[in-house]
Amino acid sequence: MDEKQQRPRRPWWLWLIVGLGVAVMLFGLGAPSALFSGSEEEVTYDVFLDALEAGKVKEVQLKSGTLYYTLQAEAEAKPTQAPQLNFGFRPLTSSKKTKVYAVTAMNDPNLVDRLHAAGVTFSENAGTGNMLLLVLIQYLVPILFYVAIFSFFFRRMGKLGAGGGLMGGLGKSNARTVEGGEVKTTFADVAGQDEAKESLQEIVSYLHNPQEYTEIGARMPRGALLIGPPGTGKTLMARAVAGEAGVPFLSISGPEFVELFVGMGASKVRDLFKEAREKAPCIVFIDEIDAVGKKRDGFGGNDEREQTLNQLLSEMDGFEGNSGVVILAATNRPESLDKALLRPGRFDRRVPVELPDQGGREAILRIHCDRIKTAGPIDLAAIARITPGASGADLANVINEAALCAVRAGRHAVTQKDLEDSVDVALAGKQRKSMVISQHEKEIIAYHEVGHALVAARQKGASPVHKITIIPRTSGALGFTMQADEDERFLMDKQEAFAKIVTLTGGRAAEELCFDSVTTGASNDIEQATSIARAMITRYGMSESFGMTAFEQVVNPYLGNDTAMNCSQETAARIDREVIALIEKAYEQAKTILKDNRSKLDEIARVLIARETITGQEFMDILNAPVALPAKQEPGEAENEG
Ligand code: ADP
Ligand code: MG
Ligand code: ZN
Repeated sequence: MDEKQQRPRRPWWLWLIVGLGVAVMLFGLGAPSALFSGSEEEVTYDVFLDALEAGKVKEVQLKSGTLYYTLQAEAEAKPTQAPQLNFGFRPLTSSKKTKVYAVTAMNDPNLVDRLHAAGVTFSENAGTGNMLLLVLIQYLVPILFYVAIFSFFFRRMGKLGAGGGLMGGLGKSNARTVEGGEVKTTFADVAGQDEAKESLQEIVSYLHNPQEYTEIGARMPRGALLIGPPGTGKTLMARAVAGEAGVPFLSISGPEFVELFVGMGASKVRDLFKEAREKAPCIVFIDEIDAVGKKRDGFGGNDEREQTLNQLLSEMDGFEGNSGVVILAATNRPESLDKALLRPGRFDRRVPVELPDQGGREAILRIHCDRIKTAGPIDLAAIARITPGASGADLANVINEAALCAVRAGRHAVTQKDLEDSVDVALAGKQRKSMVISQHEKEIIAYHEVGHALVAARQKGASPVHKITIIPRTSGALGFTMQADEDERFLMDKQEAFAKIVTLTGGRAAEELCFDSVTTGASNDIEQATSIARAMITRYGMSESFGMTAFEQVVNPYLGNDTAMNCSQETAARIDREVIALIEKAYEQAKTILKDNRSKLDEIARVLIARETITGQEFMDILNAPVALPAKQEPGEAENEG
């Protein structure tokens, strides 16, 4: 997207000072002081005169009352000098080999004549003009350098006091500003989520026409909080509001407030709201607000974050009723937000943005599908059916993966098969064609998967089988059985929950029944079965002995459904026993079903091994076909073999 982004700039002269400072530190400091470094040998005046008399003196330099001189012989032994940078001041010598002698100058008016007569190179280093510059560079630049560094860090640590400090421009809000009319996203880009759109439509019309609201004396909600799981389009929705309203859109993400340096967050909030007031009417969008808005607790906690939050709260209070600034925020952890943020007058409107239902999924798929080239009949409803629980972002990704898949295959358009394969990729990873699996293992995997499918098909309340495959996947899955409901389900009764567990145990049951051994392949099934069984007992009140008591609470409904146990040790142990019993019962039931359908199990597994993937339809056809065994005749559905 082509957005003009405004970022704070460092002043150019700061860089100049830093550059000069570095230069002085690298080259300058040592050079001028080489002469006075104490390496010269101090001699008395008569020693100097003797040397001069003997014609040994080569070079003399007078400097602030001291004569520095070198001797002939030693000077000739001097090796080639390395070039030196020394700011217009040539030291007498800088080679360590050449000895420099120093002698205090006496009042000796004939010295110059004698030096001349002896053919000595001599000079006086008056230096005052030069020296001034030298001192300036030598001392002032490093000082400026340190001042610059310190003030840079102090600025980062916050604007100490009210003043602007030495340097402007640092500590800006970092908000990305998109000018009015430049946000191209509209409500048309957001599929489903009609209720959320409706809630936000009011804000849009207020921003379009604030007078209508002020005339009647209505006060607009200051802020709306978009809450929902990740990838459901919260960020997208906020942009769409700005796009619809055609006002500037200032967006910043919560984590950007909480910086390494203390006090920055609060000053960023201040700057953000200052900018917003200048740009009003406009929308301020704070993404992932939980990063700053987390509950303040009594245990010290993160001072920086709390200061930022306090600043945010006070800025939100600072608005007059109809200032034209609307604040949107998004989070997937509403339960962790500070109560003060949620009270009326701040984020007084909550807009839930939930996972899409079947119709919503289809609509989202359609929006993203319209952006790619397709070929042949495309049935998006079928894709929506097999993607329960997918978010908008997941679905956008499914479409994109399908397009990538088509490109890989050298085609110019996406087909229905690409889309279906793409769902598999999203679910279980890419196919691992290179993986070599022995015939025996292949058989075990096939029986395991058919075990799931058969148990599902033979139970009331289980979802129909959509696909069975034994192609290994990059996620580590060696095969999977996909089930899909014709219509979306919103409730699950006890029988269905139990049927789910029975289906999950079907894989292991088939292994045990047919190979008389168990493998590690069922680990994921076991995990899922356990969590359903546990939820039935501790959260859904589906256990006879406990009844309607909750022993677990979901702590973050939008992120992974983590739970917190809330019961005594003794109850926890009883719950564990009950979970074990429930799963054991399910496992026995699965084994019974498979025993009763043993010939079908063998037959379907054989077909699956040959074809690697079979559809739900093919599966049902084999299952419903009369058994091909010559001895037995079974009427349709309910077959029972001894
Ligand atoms: P969130 O902020 O809720 O985590 P985003 O708004 O960043 O999710 O959504 C990520 C992407 O998923 C969007 O850029 C869009 O492509 C897609 N997406 C999500 N929800 C929808 C939707 N309702 N309609 C269309 N696309 C959606
Ligand atoms: Mg987001
Ligand atoms: Zn399994």
